[in-house]
Amino acid sequence: MANRIRPVEEKVQSILVAFEQINVAAAACAAGIPASTLRYDLNKVKALLPVVLANQKPGPKPRHESDVPTPEMNQPAAPCVCPACGGKLRKNGVYQVLNWVLLLLLGWLGVQKVTIQRWRCQACGHEVSGPERTRQAAARRAWWCQVARLVGLSRFKLGLSVRKTQILVQFVYGRQVSIGYIERLTQRVGTRAEAALTHLRACRQAVARFLLYDETYPKMQQRAYSLGVVICEHGLIRSVRCIVRKAKDIPAQLRAVVGEHFQPEYFLTDLDVLFNRYLQDAGLKLSHLRDRVHLIRQIVRLFDEAVRDVTLEVPKGLPIKDRKQQRRLKQRLLRKQLQPLLTLVFKAFSPGYESLCVLLLEGIVSQLQDGTHVIQTASVLTLARRLQRFITKHQAAINTLLQLAVEQGTPTTTNALESKNGILKPFSRIAKFFPLPARCQAFFAGVALMENFDVKTRGPHRGTSAMQRAQINLDDFGATDFFTAVGLPKPQISLAGITE
Ligand SMILES: [Zn+2]
Repeated sequence: MANRIRPVEEKVQSILVAFEQINVAAAACAAGIPASTLRYDLNKVKALLPVVLANQKPGPKPRHESDVPTPEMNQPAAPCVCPACGGKLRKNGVYQVLNWVLLLLLGWLGVQKVTIQRWRCQACGHEVSGPERTRQAAARRAWWCQVARLVGLSRFKLGLSVRKTQILVQFVYGRQVSIGYIERLTQRVGTRAEAALTHLRACRQAVARFLLYDETYPKMQQRAYSLGVVICEHGLIRSVRCIVRKAKDIPAQLRAVVGEHFQPEYFLTDLDVLFNRYLQDAGLKLSHLRDRVHLIRQIVRLFDEAVRDVTLEVPKGLPIKDRKQQRRLKQRLLRKQLQPLLTLVFKAFSPGYESLCVLLLEGIVSQLQDGTHVIQTASVLTLARRLQRFITKHQAAINTLLQLAVEQGTPTTTNALESKNGILKPFSRIAKFFPLPARCQAFFAGVALMENFDVKTRGPHRGTSAMQRAQINLDDFGATDFFTAVGLPKPQISLAGITE
């Protein structure tokens, strides 16, 4: 009878008959073992015959029960009572979602899926989320939170473009976020940073008496606008503003930056003549001081012009070539005569000579007018006149500037401001994609706020941030770091919730 399924008992019976035929003593002798040992082993085989000969089902072996991933396994504590009506909950199908927990923890591993069991009330149809769904939802929120922080870091600290930021997120988490998302987030963070900077004036802080102001020209669309930056002597950036119409925007910026807890007395700028006008237009009564470096530079320029503009009075009848040669000689002579005076200018502005600075400059003027020291050509007379005018104009400011520096260690230069400009400048590469001044301003406000919280790792201010140096009261400010200030706090997720 072909293809008949033989019962196990029949197969066992025939094998047992075959076993009976064995001469155990002879077989043991041939194998070289005692007969009792062979008999013992044969009995073990007989006992297992039903198992060995059992009919096997066709197809692959069923996996062990505990190996099969089932929705029930992911949900150790499944809900059983409807919170709405108290009715009995029934399983209502399964569906797949991204495994946000894995994405958050091991994003680079690639996108993984997880099965979720849906639960629905039998009586009222209310859908109840199981523990796995809750867990994934929490991880999803945390993931977006963390990605937003990463985007904030990339845009406002690393200065990466939108596309490079997208690459960074993809690399870290194995999942892309859209360009639009990054752009909207940048805009939102910028706007909040702007509000945070404006809020600075209302926060208690260490006394700040200086308002340093400068305009910087990031390489933006045809230089259509510049960026006005305000810092105080602690190096805290208090305001950035896109300047489109100087006469209107700069006074407005100056007015806006001063507030209850920021009442500066001194306005420190370079020598741009218009700054004083802007200060008055802003309605501020600040003493206007000029940056020491720019003052020196201006005097050096006057000296250079004196040499450059040397003229020959006599003799008139010489050929042009000889006149040129004579003029060059005269220029060299004058340069030699002016050199010690110029050295004296640098000395006047150097530390230790603060109280003598203006006196030394006056002395230089009288030496310039002395025919025994310097040849009295027309250009030298002009130099003496201009230097005298310069001293008359700036002497009060110079005295105040240097006196304050000695007595209170306040700045004499806008170097701190220019280094801030140096930080803002690289960002203009990505900022030029903001065609509107308002959006550009928001972006730079974000960069500035990040810089304010940046703890320096080298230089004279190592280990502190500008916020710390200015002793801004963080309770007043309402945030302890950049990310909290712009509404991107750390995700609030417990490790237990994730690894459960
Ligand atoms: Zn219900």
